[in-house]
Amino acid sequence: MEFEPVIGLEVHAQLKTKTKIFCGCSTSFGAPPNTHTCPICLGMPGVLPVLNKKVVEYSLRTALATNCKINNESRFARKNYFYPDLPKGYQISQYELPIAEHGFLKIETDGIKKKIGITRIHMEEDAGKLTHDPSRPFSMVDFNRTGVPLIEIVSEPDIRSPEEAGAYLRQLRSIVRYLGICDGNMEEGSFRCDANISLRPVGSETFGTRAELKNLNSFKHVEKALHYEIIRQKEILVDSGQVMQETRLWDPDKNRTTSMRSKEEAHDYRYFPDPDLLPLVIDDTWINNVKKALPELPNAKIKRFIKEFSLSSYDADQLTSNRQLADFFEDCVRQFPDAKQVGNWIMGPLMALLNAKGKTISESPVSARELARLLKLIDDGIISGKIAKTIFEEMAQTGKAPDQIVKEKQLVQVTDVSAIEKVVLKVLAACPKQVENYKKGKTKLLGFFVGQVMKETRGKANPKIVNDILKKRLIN
Ligand code: ADP
Ligand code: MG
Ligand code: ZN
Repeated sequence: MEFEPVIGLEVHAQLKTKTKIFCGCSTSFGAPPNTHTCPICLGMPGVLPVLNKKVVEYSLRTALATNCKINNESRFARKNYFYPDLPKGYQISQYELPIAEHGFLKIETDGIKKKIGITRIHMEEDAGKLTHDPSRPFSMVDFNRTGVPLIEIVSEPDIRSPEEAGAYLRQLRSIVRYLGICDGNMEEGSFRCDANISLRPVGSETFGTRAELKNLNSFKHVEKALHYEIIRQKEILVDSGQVMQETRLWDPDKNRTTSMRSKEEAHDYRYFPDPDLLPLVIDDTWINNVKKALPELPNAKIKRFIKEFSLSSYDADQLTSNRQLADFFEDCVRQFPDAKQVGNWIMGPLMALLNAKGKTISESPVSARELARLLKLIDDGIISGKIAKTIFEEMAQTGKAPDQIVKEKQLVQVTDVSAIEKVVLKVLAACPKQVENYKKGKTKLLGFFVGQVMKETRGKANPKIVNDILKKRLIN
């Protein structure tokens, strides 16, 4: 029997607000334990939470960018459970009436486009952080993270393969980064994903029993864990056994998932509307204002780059992988309009440089203006493409402008035909054997002669002129 995977993802995105969701404590990371706390986020009796307006605005941005319908009235609810990292004994979340519902994202895998539904987006508070030091007989808790705002984005079970799951997650991360609401770092936990997966016989309309996978802190782990789970569940089903509804942990060292606990049901949490928070009313004016201020989103930018700059979809994809990179590209093209050339230089030498230095595009030692200037020097025939690579390295190291480097190092390309002709004659005279072989038909030797002339001129001769003269001279 053939089985088909059914996958739905729950993503928790940590919002980049300055303060927490229901109090004024700082959300900044790395402070000494329990210094960013107050009676509200510590859950003292008698205190009242006050909703952070920025959290609502960031949620609205995400909801609009993922094509959701916004609920003009939504509610906060208490999700009750006991754990030492949760001082109140309940988490303030949203349940029956989340801020947004019924959205979708369009993904593409292997050239096939597909819509993945988004069930809901809701706001909630994060819990604290426990640390367990095996050499000490107790655990410690840091409440700096309690009350840090999160949004949870829940997908419909529309995903059918680990690759589709990867494409959905990458796109969602790109969107939250473009929106500037979350830094999207899976390794550091600011963008977390739980993956739900079940199998069903191909052709079946009903869903099988799902396992929920946790501890997935990179895209690679998500895909690997799903692949593993497909095999595990298939073995059970082929044996006509029953997959357990449970939460499983991905073990990246052993490359497998292990059972963590049986899955709790929603009614176990005894959700009820939080009596301390009023219903959240969002009017259409607010929604429209947020909509108007949305930046161009990744998919729209990719489409525009393909159309406006005649880029391949691969190049457009790469160049829009983050907003700053796309801005750098456009800035450069404004000053040097050969988009293909600009793209190649950004994706090639510039990216290699940034990766080597561990820098982002915003920290690039070569500005868009200087890169455009360098390309203009090639285009004007002042320097060769090869010399340009050397100049680029020098620009990166010294921060000097390309023109200045060309001047200082006397790298201006030789385009003087008679000067090149002289060098060509000298090279041909020095290599009579090769000349003879060339004339006998070994025309591949042309490259050798070009190389010799370039060596003589320290790479400064215009390669096109060198080629032309050599061909002419070698015929006679
Ligand atoms: P819970 O908090 O109990 O995990 P949620 O509604 O927050 O419930 O999330 C459930 C997730 O599981 C959704 O992403 C949904 O698409 C997915 N899902 C539901 N049923 C199945 C199933 N049978 N197989 C795979 N995924 C499923
Ligand atoms: Mg879940
Ligand atoms: Zn606080």
